[in-house]
Amino acid sequence: MKDNEKVLEVLRRLKREYPDPVTALNFQAPFELLVATMLSAQTTDVHVNKVTGGLFKRYRSIEDYADAPAETFQKEVSSINFYKTKAKNIRNAAKMIIERFHSEVPKTMEKLISLPGVARKTANVVLSNAYGLHEGIAVDTHVKRVAFRLGITKNEDPVKIEKDLMAITPKKDWGDLSHLLIFHGRKICQAKKPRHQECVLYDICPSNNI
Ligand code: SF4
Repeated sequence: MKDNEKVLEVLRRLKREYPDPVTALNFQAPFELLVATMLSAQTTDVHVNKVTGGLFKRYRSIEDYADAPAETFQKEVSSINFYKTKAKNIRNAAKMIIERFHSEVPKTMEKLISLPGVARKTANVVLSNAYGLHEGIAVDTHVKRVAFRLGITKNEDPVKIEKDLMAITPKKDWGDLSHLLIFHGRKICQAKKPRHQECVLYDICPSNNI
């Protein structure tokens, strides 16, 4: 099976397993999704949602984040990994969005990755989930692992993996592919103990005996 055929089959089967492929991060507005995604690196979505539950009630606008006293804001996200850097990046991103982008979260990859602490993965999540725009495919640790095991990439670097997946996946499915591989990675194709016997991709996966 060619890689582009395999990815279509993966999409078909995983869409049946996970019929609602959307981000697990809670948000109401694009800036909230940006904040949640920035907080989510090396942290579970469940924990991020717990923290943002209170945060989003206290901080209603981009200006609220930009004006937040550094120490107070840092304390409010202190249960999150790397909270000092993340808090600083969020406040600075808010300031930059106000100054350069008229208080609106940008809608292009180029502008998004110009914000502090925002790389392609975060930008892809925001573009896809907040705006329904697909400039790339968000590659997190689950996408990286599952795509590699399925043999639809031979790379380990997220930027190269993203290019490989973009080349073989119809553009309309870029957002879904990322979510589906994340769901499957969390539930079945887990890092330490992949549950091959329960996997709907078993017969098309070259790693079904690892
Ligand atoms: S067969 Fe195993 S390695 Fe392949 S996708 Fe399924 S769980 Fe992962």
